[in-house]
Amino acid sequence: MTEILDGRALSHKIRQQLKQRTARLRERGIVPALAVILVGTDSASQIYVRNKHRAAAEVGLATHDFKLPETTTEEELLALIAKLNVDPSIHGILVQLPLPPQIDSAKITAEIDPSKDVDGFHPLNVGQLFLNNPQSLPCTPHGIMRLLAEHQIDVAGKHAVVVGRSNIVGRPIAALLLNADATVTVTHSKTANLRELTRQADILIVAIGRAEFIKAADVKPGVVVVDVGMNRNAAGKLVGDVDFTEVEPIAEAITPVPGGVGPMTIALLLEQTVKFAER
Ligand code: NAP
Repeated sequence: MTEILDGRALSHKIRQQLKQRTARLRERGIVPALAVILVGTDSASQIYVRNKHRAAAEVGLATHDFKLPETTTEEELLALIAKLNVDPSIHGILVQLPLPPQIDSAKITAEIDPSKDVDGFHPLNVGQLFLNNPQSLPCTPHGIMRLLAEHQIDVAGKHAVVVGRSNIVGRPIAALLLNADATVTVTHSKTANLRELTRQADILIVAIGRAEFIKAADVKPGVVVVDVGMNRNAAGKLVGDVDFTEVEPIAEAITPVPGGVGPMTIALLLEQTVKFAER
Protein backbone atom coordinates (compact mmCIF):
# COMPACT_ATOMS: atom_id res chain seq x y z
CA MET A 1 0.00 0.00 0.00
CA THR A 2 1.35 3.37 -0.95
CA GLU A 3 1.66 5.73 1.99
CA ILE A 4 -0.06 9.06 1.47
CA LEU A 5 1.97 11.92 2.95
CA ASP A 6 -0.96 13.85 4.32
CA GLY A 7 0.01 17.51 4.75
CA ARG A 8 -3.45 18.47 5.89
CA ALA A 9 -3.29 16.14 8.91
CA LEU A 10 0.23 17.18 9.93
CA SER A 11 -0.48 20.88 9.47
CA HIS A 12 -3.54 20.46 11.70
CA LYS A 13 -1.32 18.86 14.36
CA ILE A 14 1.24 21.68 14.09
CA ARG A 15 -1.49 24.33 14.34
CA GLN A 16 -2.89 22.68 17.49
CA GLN A 17 0.59 22.84 19.08
CA LEU A 18 0.92 26.46 17.99
CA LYS A 19 -2.35 27.36 19.70
CA GLN A 20 -0.84 26.25 23.01
CA ARG A 21 2.39 28.12 22.36
CA THR A 22 0.62 31.38 21.46
CA ALA A 23 -1.57 31.01 24.58
CA ARG A 24 1.57 30.70 26.73
CA LEU A 25 3.06 33.78 25.05
CA ARG A 26 -0.12 35.76 25.66
CA GLU A 27 0.06 34.80 29.36
CA ARG A 28 3.45 36.54 29.36
CA GLY A 29 1.86 39.58 27.69
CA ILE A 30 3.32 38.81 24.26
CA VAL A 31 0.98 38.75 21.27
CA PRO A 32 2.89 37.07 18.43
CA ALA A 33 2.37 39.23 15.36
CA LEU A 34 3.04 38.87 11.67
CA ALA A 35 3.11 41.86 9.31
CA VAL A 36 1.92 40.95 5.82
CA ILE A 37 2.68 43.38 3.01
CA LEU A 38 0.77 43.10 -0.23
CA VAL A 39 1.57 45.48 -3.08
CA GLY A 40 -0.95 45.70 -5.92
CA THR A 41 -3.96 43.60 -6.80
CA ASP A 42 -2.59 40.24 -8.01
CA SER A 43 -5.57 37.94 -7.44
CA ALA A 44 -3.57 34.82 -6.47
CA SER A 45 -1.61 36.89 -3.94
CA GLN A 46 -4.82 38.23 -2.45
CA ILE A 47 -6.08 34.68 -1.94
CA TYR A 48 -2.77 33.59 -0.33
CA VAL A 49 -2.85 36.60 1.99
CA ARG A 50 -6.46 35.92 2.98
CA ASN A 51 -5.61 32.25 3.73
CA LYS A 52 -2.57 33.25 5.81
CA HIS A 53 -4.70 35.71 7.72
CA ARG A 54 -7.35 33.10 8.53
CA ALA A 55 -4.82 30.43 9.55
CA ALA A 56 -2.95 32.91 11.77
CA ALA A 57 -6.13 34.00 13.57
CA GLU A 58 -7.00 30.35 14.24
CA VAL A 59 -3.78 29.76 16.20
CA GLY A 60 -3.94 33.03 18.12
CA LEU A 61 -1.43 34.93 16.05
CA ALA A 62 -2.12 38.57 15.19
CA THR A 63 -1.65 39.70 11.60
CA HIS A 64 -1.17 43.28 10.49
CA ASP A 65 -2.02 43.73 6.83
CA PHE A 66 -0.41 46.47 4.78
CA LYS A 67 -2.18 46.70 1.42
CA LEU A 68 -0.27 49.12 -0.79
CA PRO A 69 -1.30 50.38 -4.24
CA GLU A 70 0.21 48.96 -7.46
CA THR A 71 1.99 52.31 -7.97
CA THR A 72 3.97 52.05 -4.69
CA THR A 73 7.61 53.05 -5.15
CA GLU A 74 10.60 51.07 -3.93
CA GLU A 75 11.42 53.90 -1.49
CA GLU A 76 7.92 53.79 0.00
CA LEU A 77 8.11 50.03 0.52
CA LEU A 78 11.62 50.28 2.00
CA ALA A 79 10.37 52.97 4.41
CA LEU A 80 7.57 50.68 5.62
CA ILE A 81 10.00 47.79 6.12
CA ALA A 82 12.40 50.04 8.06
CA LYS A 83 9.53 50.98 10.37
CA LEU A 84 8.43 47.36 10.91
CA ASN A 85 12.05 46.22 11.47
CA VAL A 86 12.27 48.36 14.62
CA ASP A 87 8.69 47.83 15.84
CA PRO A 88 9.00 45.49 18.86
CA SER A 89 5.35 44.42 18.57
CA ILE A 90 6.02 42.85 15.15
CA HIS A 91 7.81 39.46 15.20
CA GLY A 92 7.64 38.46 11.56
CA ILE A 93 7.58 40.38 8.27
CA LEU A 94 6.33 38.84 5.06
CA VAL A 95 6.33 40.60 1.70
CA GLN A 96 4.00 38.78 -0.68
CA LEU A 97 5.69 38.10 -4.03
CA PRO A 98 5.54 38.91 -6.90
CA LEU A 99 6.06 42.65 -6.58
CA PRO A 100 5.25 45.16 -9.35
CA PRO A 101 8.06 45.70 -11.89
CA GLN A 102 9.21 49.09 -10.49
CA ILE A 103 10.27 47.31 -7.27
CA ASP A 104 13.41 45.16 -7.06
CA SER A 105 12.30 42.20 -4.92
CA ALA A 106 15.88 41.14 -4.13
CA LYS A 107 16.54 44.60 -2.67
CA ILE A 108 13.35 44.41 -0.59
CA THR A 109 14.15 40.93 0.73
CA ALA A 110 17.61 42.06 1.76
CA GLU A 111 16.19 44.98 3.78
CA ILE A 112 14.01 42.85 6.06
CA ASP A 113 15.63 42.28 9.46
CA PRO A 114 16.94 38.67 9.19
CA SER A 115 15.57 38.00 12.69
CA LYS A 116 12.06 38.88 11.44
CA ASP A 117 12.44 37.17 8.05
CA VAL A 118 9.71 34.50 8.37
CA ASP A 119 10.15 33.46 4.73
CA GLY A 120 13.86 32.74 5.11
CA PHE A 121 14.63 34.62 1.89
CA HIS A 122 17.14 37.14 3.32
CA PRO A 123 20.64 36.49 1.88
CA LEU A 124 21.99 35.96 5.41
CA ASN A 125 19.39 33.28 6.15
CA VAL A 126 20.00 31.67 2.74
CA GLY A 127 23.72 31.60 3.53
CA GLN A 128 23.14 30.11 6.99
CA LEU A 129 21.03 27.37 5.42
CA PHE A 130 23.78 26.52 2.93
CA LEU A 131 26.35 26.52 5.77
CA ASN A 132 24.16 23.95 7.56
CA ASN A 133 23.41 26.38 10.37
CA PRO A 134 19.85 27.41 9.51
CA GLN A 135 18.20 30.25 11.44
CA SER A 136 15.00 30.85 9.46
CA LEU A 137 13.97 28.38 6.78
CA PRO A 138 11.84 28.95 3.69
CA CYS A 139 8.40 27.57 4.59
CA THR A 140 7.76 25.21 1.67
CA PRO A 141 11.04 23.25 1.87
CA HIS A 142 10.83 23.26 5.66
CA GLY A 143 7.31 21.83 5.38
CA ILE A 144 8.56 19.08 3.06
CA MET A 145 11.28 18.01 5.52
CA ARG A 146 8.77 17.93 8.38
CA LEU A 147 6.36 15.85 6.32
CA LEU A 148 9.13 13.32 5.53
CA ALA A 149 10.19 13.22 9.20
CA GLU A 150 6.60 12.71 10.38
CA HIS A 151 6.43 9.60 8.18
CA GLN A 152 9.85 8.35 9.38
CA ILE A 153 11.32 8.71 5.91
CA ASP A 154 15.04 8.92 6.52
CA VAL A 155 16.82 10.68 3.69
CA ALA A 156 20.38 9.95 4.86
CA GLY A 157 22.34 8.05 2.23
CA LYS A 158 19.45 8.19 -0.24
CA HIS A 159 19.61 9.62 -3.72
CA ALA A 160 17.31 12.65 -3.73
CA VAL A 161 16.53 14.18 -7.11
CA VAL A 162 15.10 17.71 -7.09
CA VAL A 163 13.35 18.92 -10.24
CA GLY A 164 13.35 22.75 -10.31
CA ARG A 165 15.92 25.23 -8.97
CA SER A 166 13.86 28.22 -7.84
CA ASN A 167 15.03 30.26 -4.86
CA ILE A 168 11.87 29.46 -2.92
CA VAL A 169 11.71 25.68 -3.42
CA GLY A 170 14.33 23.88 -5.54
CA ARG A 171 17.55 25.39 -4.16
CA PRO A 172 16.59 25.44 -0.47
CA ILE A 173 15.13 21.91 -0.49
CA ALA A 174 18.36 20.70 -2.14
CA ALA A 175 20.34 22.34 0.70
CA LEU A 176 18.09 20.85 3.38
CA LEU A 177 18.36 17.38 1.88
CA LEU A 178 22.14 17.72 1.67
CA ASN A 179 22.24 18.89 5.31
CA ALA A 180 20.26 15.73 6.14
CA ASP A 181 22.94 13.58 4.44
CA ALA A 182 21.10 12.75 1.22
CA THR A 183 23.03 12.57 -2.04
CA VAL A 184 21.38 15.34 -4.03
CA THR A 185 20.95 15.89 -7.75
CA VAL A 186 19.36 19.18 -8.81
CA THR A 187 17.75 19.31 -12.26
CA HIS A 188 16.09 22.13 -14.22
CA SER A 189 14.85 23.13 -17.66
CA LYS A 190 18.32 22.83 -19.22
CA THR A 191 19.04 19.36 -17.82
CA ALA A 192 19.76 17.11 -20.80
CA ASN A 193 18.82 13.71 -19.37
CA LEU A 194 16.13 14.72 -16.89
CA ARG A 195 13.96 11.62 -17.03
CA GLU A 196 17.01 9.34 -16.78
CA LEU A 197 17.87 11.10 -13.52
CA THR A 198 14.36 11.05 -12.07
CA ARG A 199 14.30 7.29 -12.64
CA GLN A 200 17.31 6.97 -10.32
CA ALA A 201 15.65 8.84 -7.45
CA ASP A 202 14.94 7.21 -4.10
CA ILE A 203 13.32 10.52 -3.16
CA LEU A 204 11.89 12.72 -5.89
CA ILE A 205 10.95 16.34 -5.20
CA VAL A 206 9.19 18.07 -8.09
CA ALA A 207 8.69 21.86 -8.15
CA ILE A 208 8.39 23.11 -11.72
CA GLY A 209 4.82 24.30 -12.29
CA ARG A 210 4.01 21.91 -15.19
CA ALA A 211 0.77 19.97 -14.81
CA GLU A 212 1.31 16.19 -14.43
CA PHE A 213 4.80 16.35 -15.97
CA ILE A 214 6.20 13.30 -14.14
CA LYS A 215 4.70 10.04 -15.40
CA ALA A 216 4.95 6.41 -14.27
CA ALA A 217 7.84 5.77 -16.67
CA ASP A 218 9.88 8.53 -15.02
CA VAL A 219 10.15 6.91 -11.58
CA LYS A 220 11.43 3.67 -10.13
CA PRO A 221 9.29 1.37 -7.97
CA GLY A 222 9.43 2.26 -4.28
CA VAL A 223 10.24 5.93 -4.83
CA VAL A 224 9.12 8.58 -2.32
CA VAL A 225 7.50 11.43 -4.26
CA VAL A 226 6.94 14.98 -3.04
CA ASP A 227 4.88 17.03 -5.46
CA VAL A 228 5.13 20.78 -4.86
CA GLY A 229 3.38 21.84 -8.05
CA MET A 230 0.02 23.58 -8.07
CA ASN A 231 -1.46 23.80 -11.54
CA ARG A 232 -4.83 23.80 -13.25
CA ASN A 233 -5.21 21.06 -15.86
CA ALA A 234 -7.23 21.42 -19.07
CA ALA A 235 -10.41 20.58 -17.15
CA GLY A 236 -9.67 23.32 -14.59
CA LYS A 237 -8.85 20.81 -11.84
CA LEU A 238 -6.04 21.56 -9.36
CA VAL A 239 -3.21 19.10 -10.09
CA GLY A 240 0.45 18.76 -9.20
CA ASP A 241 3.58 18.39 -11.31
CA VAL A 242 3.26 14.62 -10.92
CA ASP A 243 0.60 12.48 -12.56
CA PHE A 244 -0.78 11.12 -9.28
CA THR A 245 -3.01 8.45 -10.86
CA GLU A 246 -0.04 6.95 -12.75
CA VAL A 247 2.68 7.34 -10.14
CA GLU A 248 0.87 6.55 -6.88
CA PRO A 249 0.64 2.77 -7.45
CA ILE A 250 4.42 2.53 -8.04
CA ALA A 251 5.52 4.80 -5.20
CA GLU A 252 6.24 3.82 -1.62
CA ALA A 253 4.94 7.19 -0.46
CA ILE A 254 3.54 10.27 -2.20
CA THR A 255 2.05 13.67 -1.40
CA PRO A 256 -1.42 14.41 -2.80
CA VAL A 257 -2.31 17.69 -4.53
CA PRO A 258 -4.13 19.37 -2.94
CA GLY A 259 -3.56 18.39 0.69
CA GLY A 260 0.17 17.65 0.61
CA VAL A 261 2.82 20.35 0.58
CA GLY A 262 0.39 23.32 0.37
CA PRO A 263 -1.04 23.17 3.91
CA MET A 264 2.46 22.56 5.33
CA THR A 265 3.75 25.84 3.88
CA ILE A 266 1.26 27.93 5.85
CA ALA A 267 1.73 25.91 9.05
CA LEU A 268 5.49 26.45 8.95
CA LEU A 269 5.06 30.16 8.31
CA LEU A 270 2.97 30.42 11.47
CA GLU A 271 5.44 28.28 13.41
CA GLN A 272 8.36 30.48 12.37
CA THR A 273 6.52 33.60 13.54
CA VAL A 274 5.78 31.99 16.92
CA LYS A 275 9.45 30.94 17.23
CA PHE A 276 10.55 34.53 16.61
CA ALA A 277 8.07 35.78 19.25
CA GLU A 278 9.30 33.19 21.79
CA ARG A 279 12.91 34.25 21.38
P1 NAP B 1 9.55 28.77 -10.62
O1 NAP B 1 10.18 29.85 -9.85
O2 NAP B 1 8.75 29.07 -11.84
O3 NAP B 1 10.69 27.73 -11.00
C1 NAP B 1 10.41 26.63 -11.80
C2 NAP B 1 11.63 25.76 -11.89
O4 NAP B 1 11.28 24.63 -12.66
C3 NAP B 1 12.79 26.45 -12.62
O5 NAP B 1 13.98 26.12 -11.94
C4 NAP B 1 12.76 25.83 -14.02
O6 NAP B 1 14.02 25.67 -14.59
C5 NAP B 1 12.20 24.45 -13.72
N1 NAP B 1 11.48 23.91 -14.88
C6 NAP B 1 10.47 24.47 -15.58
N2 NAP B 1 10.08 23.66 -16.58
C7 NAP B 1 10.86 22.57 -16.50
C8 NAP B 1 10.97 21.38 -17.27
N3 NAP B 1 10.16 21.17 -18.31
N4 NAP B 1 11.89 20.47 -16.89
C9 NAP B 1 12.70 20.68 -15.85
N5 NAP B 1 12.67 21.79 -15.08
C10 NAP B 1 11.76 22.71 -15.42
O7 NAP B 1 8.59 27.88 -9.73
P2 NAP B 1 8.45 27.68 -8.12
O8 NAP B 1 8.12 28.96 -7.52
O9 NAP B 1 9.58 26.88 -7.60
O10 NAP B 1 7.14 26.77 -8.10
C11 NAP B 1 7.06 25.52 -8.73
C12 NAP B 1 5.67 24.96 -8.56
O11 NAP B 1 5.42 24.78 -7.18
C13 NAP B 1 4.53 25.86 -9.05
O12 NAP B 1 3.48 25.04 -9.51
C14 NAP B 1 4.08 26.60 -7.80
O13 NAP B 1 2.73 27.01 -7.89
C15 NAP B 1 4.27 25.52 -6.78
N6 NAP B 1 4.51 26.00 -5.40
C16 NAP B 1 3.73 25.47 -4.43
C17 NAP B 1 3.95 25.84 -3.11
C18 NAP B 1 3.11 25.21 -2.05
O14 NAP B 1 3.08 25.71 -0.94
N7 NAP B 1 2.42 24.12 -2.35
C19 NAP B 1 4.93 26.77 -2.78
C20 NAP B 1 5.72 27.28 -3.82
C21 NAP B 1 5.51 26.88 -5.11
P3 NAP B 1 15.00 26.90 -15.00
O15 NAP B 1 15.57 27.38 -13.69
O16 NAP B 1 15.98 26.30 -15.89
O17 NAP B 1 14.11 27.94 -15.65
